[in-house]
Amino acid sequence: MKVFKFGGASVKDAPSVKNVAEVIKQFCNEELVVIVSAMGKTTNALEELVQLFFDKGDWQGQLQVIKNFHFDISNGLFEKDHQVFERLETIFEGIAKYLSFAESKPYMEVYSEMVSQGELLSTRIIRNYLNENIHKTIWIDARTYVKTDYNYIDARVDWDMTKRNISEKIPAFAKDAIVITQGFIGSNGEGKTTTLGREGSDFSAAIFATGLSAESVTVWKDVPGVMTADPRKMPDAVIIPKLSYTDASEMTYYGASIIHPRTIKPLAQNGIKLYVRPFNAPEELGTVIGDEGTGMHPASFILKTKQVFIDFKVTDFTFIDEKKLSMIFNALDQLNIKINLMQNSAVSFSICIDKKFDKVEHLVQRLSDTFNIEMRDNLEMLTVKGYDQEALDKIYDRKEILLEQKSKDVYHLLYVPEKKHKELSESA
Ligand code: ASP
Ligand code: MG
Repeated sequence: MKVFKFGGASVKDAPSVKNVAEVIKQFCNEELVVIVSAMGKTTNALEELVQLFFDKGDWQGQLQVIKNFHFDISNGLFEKDHQVFERLETIFEGIAKYLSFAESKPYMEVYSEMVSQGELLSTRIIRNYLNENIHKTIWIDARTYVKTDYNYIDARVDWDMTKRNISEKIPAFAKDAIVITQGFIGSNGEGKTTTLGREGSDFSAAIFATGLSAESVTVWKDVPGVMTADPRKMPDAVIIPKLSYTDASEMTYYGASIIHPRTIKPLAQNGIKLYVRPFNAPEELGTVIGDEGTGMHPASFILKTKQVFIDFKVTDFTFIDEKKLSMIFNALDQLNIKINLMQNSAVSFSICIDKKFDKVEHLVQRLSDTFNIEMRDNLEMLTVKGYDQEALDKIYDRKEILLEQKSKDVYHLLYVPEKKHKELSESA
């Protein structure tokens, strides 16, 4: 059994859907479970829809934009009278109806229910196209299988229940049809839709692979594989052909966006290989992530944007002691905030975290009685893994630096980005 994952960029228009079908065609003699994300930037568009709904803006207009996008793609794939159009129509009617009764519902619940529609739409379209042009498929609703807690936007998986659901049903489905399902979504104990965090479809692939004891997961991407840097920003980036689970996981921790951070652990624990391959050149092998890496490869550059620097200063002429630190860590833990970088001195403790939802505000609120808090927004964090002087020379021109940290293998730099970055303008 193999698990494939296709992300939004691989299904962003009709020609790319056709390309995905060509990739799948080459493997359709094997048992295959295919996880698909929402098409193109649909998840962002649905997030905007939810925002507009709660801000009492023109959400109907936004919904129409999303509808047009999916109908345009479908027009490029199907005859005018195809039954898929009716299906899509029903989904869009369902969305409008849901929202018209959603005013008193909690934001997070509405968010997950609405944002999950992207994956439900994309898998409907792709399933129909594959059925007619490539191979028999079976469409399943991932929410029936992936069971989570009640954290709607960053849900934690109930592994026992999820593995049982997947292993009991799906192998039989995969015997004579390609199984098509959604990434990113699950459901809680009440059967309400939950989501696994943005870009969570990779993790979904790992969840299904674990439940199926699959031989491998292949994530088909718009890059040749895992690279030493983002090739759009650093033209001399090269592919890393073989990477260990440990190194891959560390890279995702520092912000390598090629794989969702939660993906590696279940695969490593179950010895399932992870391939990262280019959907535009499916004959290329890309990167394989497994027990062993190739060891030496050039330094890897990992950029994390939208960083916030927060500095907690004691106000009472004492020092940052264990009690004060544990207050800060408790608040971070309760708000489920991950620290990307930290540093302390006698009188202050500084952290760098992602700007996500309103978590930063909540954190400040909780701690502002005890600390003098200073904040800087819109920063970038660059991590260089396996650095040497030559690697550091490439990033010498960062101007306003807030924090710099070096360990044996890893170098971090937190800085104020320049509006027009040299590499960014090169790639534009
Ligand atoms: N569609 C979701 C997102 O854009 C999940 C994914 O693509 O992995 O975040
Ligand atoms: Mg995506």
